[in-house]
Amino acid sequence: MYTQKDIIRMVEEEDVEFIRLQFTDIFGILKNVAITKSQLEKALANQCMFDGSSIEGFVRIEESDMYLYPDLDTFTIFPWRPQQGKVARIICDVYCVDRKPFEGDPRYVLRRAVKEAQEMGYNLNVGPECEFFLFHTDDYGRPTTISHEHAGYFDLGPVDLGENARRDIVLTLEEMGYEIEASHHEIAPAQHEIDFKYEPALHAADNIMTFKLAVKTIAKRHGLYATFMPKPKADINGSGMHVNMSLSKDGKNIFCDESSQDGLSQEARWFMGGLMKHIKAITAIANPLVNSYKRLLPGYETPVYIAWSATNRSPLIRIPAERGENTRIELRSPDPAANPYLTLAVCLAAGLKGIREKTDPPASVNQNLFALTEEERRELKIDVLPTNLKHALSELKKDSFICSVLGEHICSKYIEAKEREWAHYKASITDWETNAYLEKY
Ligand code: GLN
Ligand code: MG
Ligand code: MG
Ligand code: MG
Repeated sequence: MYTQKDIIRMVEEEDVEFIRLQFTDIFGILKNVAITKSQLEKALANQCMFDGSSIEGFVRIEESDMYLYPDLDTFTIFPWRPQQGKVARIICDVYCVDRKPFEGDPRYVLRRAVKEAQEMGYNLNVGPECEFFLFHTDDYGRPTTISHEHAGYFDLGPVDLGENARRDIVLTLEEMGYEIEASHHEIAPAQHEIDFKYEPALHAADNIMTFKLAVKTIAKRHGLYATFMPKPKADINGSGMHVNMSLSKDGKNIFCDESSQDGLSQEARWFMGGLMKHIKAITAIANPLVNSYKRLLPGYETPVYIAWSATNRSPLIRIPAERGENTRIELRSPDPAANPYLTLAVCLAAGLKGIREKTDPPASVNQNLFALTEEERRELKIDVLPTNLKHALSELKKDSFICSVLGEHICSKYIEAKEREWAHYKASITDWETNAYLEKY
């Protein structure tokens, strides 16, 4: 859509002074280097270098020079920065010194999966539902888990203290080109959700990264701290990032088939089959933290069992009621701490594999899974998701297909870092333990 000339013109006309070149590391953390407009032409000519060795999971010191290739279509001005001498950003692909795409760039992993889909004639559309908490900060400005509000699902002001912040976030996102479909208070006190319109996978992943930055920035302006931590507080709901997916071919949604009994096409079924077959390994990516698994517990509207349903919200995959162009499957396990590029790449690849291999999903389960006895679940052959990070990582290691989608570099760096994270956690003494044992023993 944009050419180099367009970018230079917009920077001139809009009085942009700084341009941030952004990319995302393996662990889903947004990184950027700022340049002034004097360096813009050089950057647009893919001549902007940075030291990759300081980015966790990227490269070793000996081979640390990397190039940033700006993706011109991602040019956006930050509405929250000064209006004179504005700040814009461009999302970049990461390249090696030999001018080959860097295997450790998550965006490249998603690009590869998208390309494979296109070779089969498909495009993946993704509509994410990101949930987050708005908490107070302490006297030093540090985030806490304190909130004075008691609002619940779909409540409105004056109980909802986050309402002004949320309104401001929505307006900011709209200014940045997002089409906001819904925004509401979520079930837990201080919890919110903002949904934006589906987009092709790469664009959707970029949008998720920008969304998190915008939410945190605007929340701060309102004296609040926004967190996407999956389960910041025990005993109340955690934050999920439901991923709504559909495939289109020649501009038409191919997940719908009016002639089938439930309105779902064969492709939609096989896509689910592939997704469910690989979901245990995918969980290591879609639920990346020790804390992620404290969200995936019964009683908090999160999936625990590997099942799908067209009616019930308790399983892993739900089919929302809309049909026609809006037919989609909703994967409910991912959380907003996940790297969106890697998450969408593994979901897409697993779904496509399901289509290629005609993998039938198990029969749908339409009763509340949590109301079944263990024996009934066994009879229905309903399996469970990994219950902790360690368990998920061992599933990932066993799944050579998902590993190949991630590529050697990312797969090994990811597993190495996450096993270290698990080891630290295992060796730590938690508040729960001291509270439960110190006095008693
Ligand atoms: N917060 C729930 C989760 O963790 C979802 C609640 C909802 O959107 N109905 O996934
Ligand atoms: Mg929702
Ligand atoms: Mg929700
Ligand atoms: Mg949902």
